[in-house]
Amino acid sequence: MLKCQEIVGQADAYLASELTSWQRFQFNLHLMVCRHCRCYIKAFKMTEQVSQKLPVANTMPDVDISALVAMIQKDHQDINKI
Ligand SMILES: [Zn+2]
Repeated sequence: MLKCQEIVGQADAYLASELTSWQRFQFNLHLMVCRHCRCYIKAFKMTEQVSQKLPVANTMPDVDISALVAMIQKDHQDINKI
């Protein structure tokens, strides 16, 4: 019987269907008897699904760096006047 720690370690491979049929059998056997790991796998699966739906972050949009630097310098000068 797998230990809970082994379930946690193999969760990614389990959800990606990368386990052998014997490993999967042992994994499922543990899930049948351990409600904590069932909850863990359910949460892990949901997190994975949600993260796949999130938009991929774009690289930094086109920004006029010199204008940005000038704006920061102006703010810095304004703060120093206070
Ligand atoms: Zn467990």
